[in-house]
Amino acid sequence: MYLVKTPFWLRLIYPSLLWRKLNDSNKIYITFDDGPIPIVTDFVINTLKIYQASATFFCIGDNIRKHPEVFQRLRQEGHSIGNHTFNHLRGWDTDDEVYLDNIKKCHSLVQSNLLRPPHGRIKKSQISRVREAFPAMEIIMWDVLSGDFDQKLSPEKCLQNVIRYTRPGAIIVFHDSLKAFDRLEYVLPKALEYWKDKGYVFEKL
Ligand SMILES: [Zn+2]
Repeated sequence: MYLVKTPFWLRLIYPSLLWRKLNDSNKIYITFDDGPIPIVTDFVINTLKIYQASATFFCIGDNIRKHPEVFQRLRQEGHSIGNHTFNHLRGWDTDDEVYLDNIKKCHSLVQSNLLRPPHGRIKKSQISRVREAFPAMEIIMWDVLSGDFDQKLSPEKCLQNVIRYTRPGAIIVFHDSLKAFDRLEYVLPKALEYWKDKGYVFEKL
């Protein structure tokens, strides 16, 4: 089970993580987790281009290793790249040392000061370890979870969810993964069109 809108109590438990990025204009921050992979990431890049939108991609190191050409394209298009660990480890189930090593292994490829913990699960001890090893690292959570990974969710409902909860400064999560593609392919162009009409500006983190 997941919540589209991040509840306030979760933000209170982890106040040092970034959930929403307030600004003095209508900027929103679209993010894509779990790529890069052919077809899906290419679709996202092409769609963003139509709307002149910048976004942030939290990449799995092992997918960069498998698809270096897609990763190269992401870099060339000028989007932000973030760390999503090398093997998509769930922090709550992972030893701290193993978790940190996996972040370092991904870091050697992405060289980024942005980290999104896979599944949003990271222990407080792991947050401390990350901050020791990477003092400049920002840990990025989210304001709106699209649910695009949920194969029981219809594309229409997924679109309604993201539109309903998006507000200035929102950090929005999508997935450039095969699992999410049925919904993403439908939702992304429509959401971008809707947000553009509302006067939102698409920024990278
Ligand atoms: Zn992920």
